Amino acid sequence: MSTVLVIGAGGVSSVCVHKMAMNADIFGDIHLASRTKSKCDSIAASVKERTGQDVATYEIDAEEVPAMVNLIRKVGPSLVVNLALPYQDLPIMDACLEAGVDYLDTANYEPKDEAKFEYKWQWAYHDRFKQAGLMALLGSGFDPGVTSVFTMWLKKHKLKSIRQLDILDCNGGDHGQAFATNFNPEINIREVTAPARHWENGEFVETPAMGKKVEFDFEAVGPKNMYMMYHEELESLAKFNPEMERARFWMTFGDEYIKHLTVLQNVGMTRIDPVKYQGKEIIPLQFLAAVLPKPETLGETTKGNTNIGVIATGEALDGSGEKTFYINNICSHEAAYEETGNQAVSYTTGVPAMIGSAMMVTGKWTGDGVFNMEEMDPDPFMDMLNDHGLPWQVKELDGPVDF
Ligand code: NDP
Repeated sequence: MSTVLVIGAGGVSSVCVHKMAMNADIFGDIHLASRTKSKCDSIAASVKERTGQDVATYEIDAEEVPAMVNLIRKVGPSLVVNLALPYQDLPIMDACLEAGVDYLDTANYEPKDEAKFEYKWQWAYHDRFKQAGLMALLGSGFDPGVTSVFTMWLKKHKLKSIRQLDILDCNGGDHGQAFATNFNPEINIREVTAPARHWENGEFVETPAMGKKVEFDFEAVGPKNMYMMYHEELESLAKFNPEMERARFWMTFGDEYIKHLTVLQNVGMTRIDPVKYQGKEIIPLQFLAAVLPKPETLGETTKGNTNIGVIATGEALDGSGEKTFYINNICSHEAAYEETGNQAVSYTTGVPAMIGSAMMVTGKWTGDGVFNMEEMDPDPFMDMLNDHGLPWQVKELDGPVDF
């Protein structure tokens, strides 16, 4: 049984903490800290009601490193699970180094004033974690996270090498709102308004945001338009699978979402540079996030499924020539809400955060330094996905994708 300290109290954190409490044999002592303590308290109350487990709660500004160090020393965890926002990654990593504790997150560090989605700042911590004999695991959500584990599982069990990779992220859920995002609106809108980038012949190729659209028929959802965009796991997948000729990321968006986003972008509401308003500087995107529905309030009304997976083509391990495999998970918004009080986008991120944490605290995944999911043995993680609410399936396709 281990002691864990979770930072952040949004939808992803709520799912992860519920799932940790459901696995009390692994996570015996759960502590939850965030900027707004009342949000930690509501998660703790829901966990108590659903599982009978206690969760200790604290208020913390994770960007205040000395305060974080004090909190870590007071709680004495073997792992700090960062489920706050990407802006807090580096201060929390600094605090973990100072207090001597392992670290896990679900999203790469982002500077506040520029949308980058790059691992370089966190990879730069490798030597310091290594020298301290500590482990940091980056990106243990669904994408990044499970998508990388799916890819490495295919490479371990089906393919000798990967020539082409496509990650397909479909949210077929309907929340009944004209416009809302299913996770933190600021991060979500930064992601989709950034230029698209995909990996091709040894380099990233940049194309306009939302410039390439393909219709794909998703099981348990139906036909949906998906758009090519950049996503951070492409960087780690390309680093650890240098043989890949091409790797792309696709996400589905409905016409209504695109329409609203286009207008918001055209009028300047998605800008992340400061704008003077009534004598004060405001960031338009942060203001927009404040007026949009909170993702954690969408759970009750969201119906439908998510379907996220990876299609990989490459040389078969058994020497039978080139093969294409599709590996994916289908997750029901209603079932996720029933189990944890959160919709499937939070669920599909919070469950892998719990599983990555379990890998670390049980010693199934070990190492000194900063690691991506691609560097770990996929098998024990894949087993836990099946057992803890995100079952996956794999099938062989007739040939490579034709889009
Ligand atoms: P939310 O916005 O719902 O929650 C973020 C939480 O972090 C809030 O409770 C917020 O506090 C807290 N927080 C923000 N700043 C600080 C700070 N300085 N100190 C302490 N706490 C702070 O986000 P989500 O739950 O939707 O997402 C959480 C993380 O998961 C994000 O990093 C997101 O990018 C990532 N993610 C990863 C995915 C993946 O598949 N890999 C998919 C979806 C999300 P307050 O309540 O006061 O605002």
